[in-house]
Amino acid sequence: MISNPEYNPMKPIPYGKQHITEADIEAVVETLQSEYLTQGPKVAEFERAFAGYVGAAYAVAVSNGTAALHLCALALGVDENTRVITTPITFVASANCVRYCGGTVEFADIDPATALLDVEKVRELLEGKPKGYYSGIIPVDFAGNPVNMETFRELADAHGLWLIEDAAHAPGGFFFDGKGGKQLCGNGAFANLAIFSFHPVKHIATGEGGMVTTNDEALYNKLLRLRTHGITRDPEQMEENHGGWYMEMQELGYNYRIPDMLCALGLSQLQRADAGLARRKGIARIYDAAFREAAGIETLRTGSAALGPEGETGHAYHLYVIRVQDRKGLYEYLRRHGILAQVHYIPAHTMPYYRGLGHGKGDFPEAERYYAECLSLPMYPSLTQEEQAFVIEKVKEFAGK
Ligand SMILES: *Cc1c(COP(=O)(O)O)cnc(C)c1O
Repeated sequence: MISNPEYNPMKPIPYGKQHITEADIEAVVETLQSEYLTQGPKVAEFERAFAGYVGAAYAVAVSNGTAALHLCALALGVDENTRVITTPITFVASANCVRYCGGTVEFADIDPATALLDVEKVRELLEGKPKGYYSGIIPVDFAGNPVNMETFRELADAHGLWLIEDAAHAPGGFFFDGKGGKQLCGNGAFANLAIFSFHPVKHIATGEGGMVTTNDEALYNKLLRLRTHGITRDPEQMEENHGGWYMEMQELGYNYRIPDMLCALGLSQLQRADAGLARRKGIARIYDAAFREAAGIETLRTGSAALGPEGETGHAYHLYVIRVQDRKGLYEYLRRHGILAQVHYIPAHTMPYYRGLGHGKGDFPEAERYYAECLSLPMYPSLTQEEQAFVIEKVKEFAGK
């Protein structure tokens, strides 16, 4: 029974997708017609604009969000003797970056109300070991719901740890600090480094692409070198100088560069970022209202620090997640109606790879219960009112049965 005339079985509704305009296309074409196919002026332009957008001093554009995480781990010196804590409810790259450097990943459970890494669970882990046992924490602004980084900073300082904020879901997100100051996700006020992704389902899409932001100049310079083979061309950083051609490979780096044309696309998309974010918040308000009193449907709570005194929300809504008892049933029911809801995420510690490293099912009951019930509904700026109404109707129809 298809009650919505807008519903077109040939055009399924995904959980997320990019939005490309004529201006985006023109920006890319212009760069293609320029002198630069890989490293050109758009890279630095995108970095400056993005740093400004999230309120950080420095930004380093890289080939994808996973490369951004890997460079962060390298820059902070993760190696075989390093233990890092992260959340099981994230994309596996948040944990994998530690493994790329040979380090050990430890997980801590989530707060079931928000699905964010539970700071109290992290505190328990830290207090159970001697100082120096752990080196860092990677909190994730899951679904766009901003982590209270000030709380994590206090904990990290007490134990001598660094922080990487995985803000892939939260460009434009913010929380209010203890003094009521607005703190943008990735602004570097509390985390040593933060990362973003420009994968098509994320807020700003370049196809593949990522960014590291920081306020730390030394880390910034290290990231610039690591992005391109560990090579510097800056005479001030070199040990020797043989002439104009001279460059120096000072450490083992990678080719994690992003091409100029993708930065041109990113710049163009960034100009619409605020509008896209406002639209996401509007979609979330409609879902919130629709599910508030619906039996059998639970929604995630926004972290308390991300709610302003006048109801202003710092949630960036990369995802809109609901929890239902029969998640598989709902997933399949929606699919039959052309609604391609998704599950975010399968807990990282239950993946065969991490099971092989000694983690296992049963380790983090809140994360596992969350996984059994969660479903991400369509959430992207070009989702139409009719499409959203259709999604709500189908979700309620199933949940009401
Ligand atoms: C998308 C994502 C990444 C990785 O970004 P890619 O650009 O796909 O490599 C890392 N962390 C989280 C939480 C993500 O959602």
